[in-house]
Amino acid sequence: MKNIASKLGDSLKSTYKEVSNQTQHTLDFTKDKAEIIALKNDLKRLYLSLGICYFDYKVEQIEFDEENLFSQIDDLHQQIYELENILETTKKTQKDSFSEFKHEVKSTWQEESNVANNLKFCANCNMGNPLENTICSNCETSLD
Ligand SMILES: [Zn+2]
Repeated sequence: MKNIASKLGDSLKSTYKEVSNQTQHTLDFTKDKAEIIALKNDLKRLYLSLGICYFDYKVEQIEFDEENLFSQIDDLHQQIYELENILETTKKTQKDSFSEFKHEVKSTWQEESNVANNLKFCANCNMGNPLENTICSNCETSLD
């Protein structure tokens, strides 16, 4: 059992080392999400292995490296926690920049429509004239 646990530990170690290296350089949302799922699956396997080790310990008094297994589980929990934070930040940044974009479009559109509301358009040449004008500043057609 000790062998299975330590083998598992080694493969987990390289998995989350890899994950933390990659997340430093990427804001790829889907990828982060997939990595969290992978880590959570690793965690499940680790808990399963813990259960097996305990069972063997209780039934057959087979010793196992409890401390090592616990610290691996702790590390994995920490790793998942950090990844989830990165994911949240990414999500929020994307949402904020999209809202900002929408707000910009909206206010630009409003500005333009405000300008349009404050103009009299000439029926002849379509020129926008100040509201107080009675004749078009371009073609002198009456604006009334
Ligand atoms: Zn005109």
